[in-house]
Amino acid sequence: MAYKDPNDERRIQKDFEYMNSERGYVGRAISGKLKPSYGKYGGHKPDKSMDKREFWRLYMNHIIKMKEKFPGSTGRLCIYCERPFTFKARRGTRGKGYQGRQGQIKTNFSIDRYDPRITYKVNNIVFCCVDCNEKKKNSNPDDWLNFIRIGKELYKT
Ligand SMILES: [Zn+2]
Repeated sequence: MAYKDPNDERRIQKDFEYMNSERGYVGRAISGKLKPSYGKYGGHKPDKSMDKREFWRLYMNHIIKMKEKFPGSTGRLCIYCERPFTFKARRGTRGKGYQGRQGQIKTNFSIDRYDPRITYKVNNIVFCCVDCNEKKKNSNPDDWLNFIRIGKELYKT
């Protein structure tokens, strides 16, 4: 970093621009998952097979798959609602640790475990918007089947 004083306005601006780029934003999300302190905030420790490179590789695969599904798009789409990701950071959150999902921008990129009973690893890591991640929370595939089963019973004629 060129500006040593962390309160230097130029440095703050530079950090902010970087965090708002896809590379900065996704890198920060990945680092957050790999931080040893992540578990303290109720996070889930990723599988041993997961490091930064592997997270990035899975994200690149996600982009390729979504591009195939939606030719002409950038592939930066939520796997669930299939709407475009944003990578918008909030100013003034630097160095303050995990902020929680509250107040986050709903269209922002996030990393999800498809089945929350399983940790972060290949075939369980998906990339979705904050909104979908929030809606899903800790519900798991068995819960979803239950919801659908009852729906079928309710609307049976
Ligand atoms: Zn979504």
